[in-house]
Amino acid sequence: MMQKRDAEALQKYEENKNGERHDIRIRRRDALRSMGLAMLSLPLVAVSTLWMSREAYAQQKVPKEPVKYQEEPKDNQQCSGCLHFVPPNACKLVQGEISPQGWCTLYVPKQRQ
Ligand code: SF4
Repeated sequence: MMQKRDAEALQKYEENKNGERHDIRIRRRDALRSMGLAMLSLPLVAVSTLWMSREAYAQQKVPKEPVKYQEEPKDNQQCSGCLHFVPPNACKLVQGEISPQGWCTLYVPKQRQ
């Protein structure tokens, strides 16, 4: 036999349950929407991170002028023999197109003489 206190508690539970269900549905919908947005934004974040690191890497290179880059060799030193040269026409340290016959003050021979 159900006592009066149990009946009141059960009634309160039923009232709360209905109200909470509504709240839970709203919260679940908001949570799913947030998760969906988060999932959609993941590729965007990954691409922008890669793009930024690529930009940061490119910005680490120095312009030609400060390192006195020239298109001709100097004293038997040229880019094709430099440790920093990246064939066919790039450099790990200097920006822009680099001639294999070029030279700059950052020259380091591939093999020490
Ligand atoms: S000489 Fe200068 S520009 Fe040429 S590869 Fe070496 S560091 Fe780069």
